[in-house]
Parts: sequence; C-alpha cells; structure tokens
Amino acid sequence: MADAVEHSEMRVDAQRAKQLAENLSTVCQRVDKVAGGRKVRLIAVSKLKPANDILALHHDPHKQLDFGENYAQELTEKAGLLPKSIQWHMIGALQTNKCKPLAEQVANLYCVSSVDSAKKADALEKGRAALAEKQELSSKLRILVQVNTSGEAEKSGVEPDETVELCRHVREKCPHIQLAGLMTIGAIARSQQATNADSVNEDFVALRDTRDKVAAELGIEAKELELSMGMSSDFEAAVTQGSDEVRVGTTIFGDRPAKKDAKVKNETTEEKS
Ligand SMILES: *Cc1c(COP(=O)(O)O)cnc(C)c1O
Repeated sequence: MADAVEHSEMRVDAQRAKQLAENLSTVCQRVDKVAGGRKVRLIAVSKLKPANDILALHHDPHKQLDFGENYAQELTEKAGLLPKSIQWHMIGALQTNKCKPLAEQVANLYCVSSVDSAKKADALEKGRAALAEKQELSSKLRILVQVNTSGEAEKSGVEPDETVELCRHVREKCPHIQLAGLMTIGAIARSQQATNADSVNEDFVALRDTRDKVAAELGIEAKELELSMGMSSDFEAAVTQGSDEVRVGTTIFGDRPAKKDAKVKNETTEEKS
C-alpha cells in the first residue's frame, strides 16, 4: 500500500515523459539495426536523474525494465521509492563496505556490473545470503567482473590476466551469486573514435578475448558469459562487436547535473524550460 501511495504522489510531467520515451525508442531502434536479430539488453543509466524520469519509462507502454545507477546510496533510495518490478543494475565503482548492505537491502537488485575483487564478491555473497534467510528468492544475484581493458592506471577493474582467477572464485565460493559475464568501460579516447557501427574499438576486442579465455579455462561455453560494453558514444560499435548489454545514459536522459545538485525526488514540478 505504501508503495502505491508513493507512486501516485510522484508526478510525471507529460512533456518530459514524451521526450524520454522518444529518446528511448530511438536508442532501441539504433541497437536493433546493428544487432542482427540478437537480443541486446539496454540498461537506461539513470544516475543523478530524478525518480520521476525512471517511472516515466518503466510505465506502460514503454515498460523499460533495466535501470543503471552508479552510487549505492542513490540506488537504494530509488529502489525504495519505485516499483519492485524494476531490475536495478549497480554499474559504478563500488566500495567493499557498501556491498553487503546493497545486496541485502535491495531485493530487486538484478546485477552488480562492477565487481573487481574477491572481497567485493564475498561481501555481496554475504548480503544476498542474509536476504535469502529473510525471504524466498527466485534467482541468484548476477554479477559481472569488470575488466580494465585499456590498461589505464586510474581505471577500476581487474587486469585481463587476473580475470580467470576472480571468475573462478565467484563460481566456486559464492553460491548465492551467478557469474553472468564481463564488463568494461574502456578508454574515453577510443570510445570517442568508435562512434559509428563499423569502428573497431580495442577495448571491445580485449573484453571478448578475455571472455573466451575465461570460458575455456573454466570449461564453460563462451555464450554463458555475457559482454557488457558500450555507452552513449559507442554503443552501436559495441553491439557490432558482440556486446550483449549496452549502458546508455546521456542519450536517453540528457546531460547529468553535478552530484551535489542531483535530486532523487523532483518536487519542483513547475519548472520553466
Ligand atoms: C555513466 C555510465 C554510463 C552511461 O554513460 P553515458 O555516456 O551517459 O551513456 C555507462 N556505464 C558506466 C559504467 C557509467 O558509469
């Protein structure tokens, strides 16, 4: 009941909803055009955007299911306000101490895309196990191992060489977690060059190679491990190069505010444009 009241109190501006729906539909069409009949998941990256924007796209008739967030606290707050039918993706750099509470508090957390250490995997496992004690869960928590394919020191992610070890750890030591695949962000410069569907991006090649190696070492089929690669600037090239999941924010929601100005609940519904 509390859920329904919250939603009815959340006003969705009709014009904003129409614009978002058009943007979403354009991205879907662009993905389909290069996907060659493959199914590619589109994560609408809603970080720093208000909950109303998410609700507008999750409603009929768009029924966008997958939303991506970068900050554990913001994801938890939005998940508390919005329908439980949403599939949340934690795509941002995650601190180890935030892993357990996130996995325990957000039952509809669908995937954590940014796991880059055994410690974080173990903490997510603990959180999900604690949640499983309290309620029946129909599935494991999916995770992606984030790989630093560009070799930039400041990028998070495990080195390609260390990926097999972390993947094996998740499969053998984390019974409440499913190793769903690998993720990369890649170098900005490469993604800015790879803006059309035919451009080859070395980061995407590296992630695919790493995936094939992991599958071979673990004795599983490559298709059991998804590839999450591609953002606003390069998602078509990523799909052409075999991405199973793209994470698109700006092209759907527009430019993001500074973190200090971001509001989960957008109460000023009479903003002039
Ligand atoms: C913010 C973010 C995105 C979306 O980026 P856009 O350029 O706005 O599409 C995708 N992936 C990750 C990991 C992000 O942090």
